[in-house]
Amino acid sequence: MTLIKSKGWPATRLRRLRATPQLRALVRESNFTAAQLILPCFVKEAAKKPEPISSMPGVVRHSLKSLAEEAKQAEKLGIGAILLFGIPSKKDAHGSQADEESGVVQEAVRTVKRAAPKLAVITDVCLCEYTNHGHCGILTSGKQRVLPLSPPTPTVLADAARSGKASGCGKRMPHHGPLAFGSRHPLTSYVDNDSTLKRLAAVALSHAKAGADMVAPSAMMDGQVRIIRRMLDENGYESLPILAYAAKYSSAFYGPFRGAVGSAPQFGDRAAYQMDPHNVDEALREVALDIEEGADIVMVKPGYAYLDVVRVIKERFHWPLAIYQVSGEYAMVKAAAARGWLDGDRAFKELVASARRAGADLVITYEAVSLAKQL
Ligand SMILES: [Zn+2]
Repeated sequence: MTLIKSKGWPATRLRRLRATPQLRALVRESNFTAAQLILPCFVKEAAKKPEPISSMPGVVRHSLKSLAEEAKQAEKLGIGAILLFGIPSKKDAHGSQADEESGVVQEAVRTVKRAAPKLAVITDVCLCEYTNHGHCGILTSGKQRVLPLSPPTPTVLADAARSGKASGCGKRMPHHGPLAFGSRHPLTSYVDNDSTLKRLAAVALSHAKAGADMVAPSAMMDGQVRIIRRMLDENGYESLPILAYAAKYSSAFYGPFRGAVGSAPQFGDRAAYQMDPHNVDEALREVALDIEEGADIVMVKPGYAYLDVVRVIKERFHWPLAIYQVSGEYAMVKAAAARGWLDGDRAFKELVASARRAGADLVITYEAVSLAKQL
């Protein structure tokens, strides 16, 4: 970019175009509409009514009934899509509920489609909400050592308890014995990439059959986009797009989410498959591979701590790009706003603007409904 040579003040006064709201709007460089927002929703199989999540004020674990109401509202507000996460009643080592025809997400897709037929439905494709060990794939004995997990906060633990730890925190792997958070796992278990791929493909297909408009694989297994693309194509879903969690970092900002869905790993952490927060070249490789494998949209997650990554990906690939404002980022603003330390509404708008400015086309945010109401 070349800056025009100017003698500066007094001929140049940049404040002239900031003088009124109208002038500021005329020269605004980025903007956003409700159609560019995606609303993530948790659906709990056993929930009779919505359950508040204390670490994410304003967010609930939906029953199917309350999800239908939320979907209607999102549709009315013109929100771009809803992103569904399921919390099943039963969990096991293979996450077998994840691809059940009558599973929690599959029922949720049908519910949303009936309630709000014009609202696009995206489904998260992973196993961590469905496995009793809380990892995103199938465990196997391997050479790779799983590192100890830092202890979760008391609020996250309380939320995990409320989310029904049959959900995640109750059952242990039988041969592992009870394990405290932060303890070193006695076995050298690790998440097996290739056997996990088969499960992810089956999960994605079950979501497609239920009526999802898009699937979003988030397990960070190598080859997950390719194997899902192939499975969808072979079953007549070649037109169903994939939103790939391409650059998903191993982040502390996921804490409240794991409490909300009871998916905190029972041992170890996810650093052996999610990305190291220090890396950006690796994010470019992840995105390049996902696009080659068939990703229609790529994602950076978390959002605001990684805007440099968003910018470089957009400039390099010119591909539809989403960011996910994750639970911890959401909770920080909510917590500060609740104490009167900042104006939450303004802060959320500013954060979405920053995502758009950095190059994101789409923003996944728990604040989507409130933001859309203010537009
Ligand atoms: Zn996962």
